[in-house]
Amino acid sequence: MSEPQICPICRVKIIKLVGGDRVIFSSGPPGTRETLWQKVCKYTDQPGCINRK
Ligand SMILES: [Zn+2]
Repeated sequence: MSEPQICPICRVKIIKLVGGDRVIFSSGPPGTRETLWQKVCKYTDQPGCINRK
């Protein structure tokens, strides 16, 4: 398995998985890149974010 990426802006871990990446939040259940976008990245909206649309 590959090393998790950590978004320097949102501070969440993204683990690359076949069939869809898994996002580990600091609290709550893991989600997807889409839930990360909806919960965090949409609001931070900075160029350094690795989960930008
Ligand atoms: Zn981010």
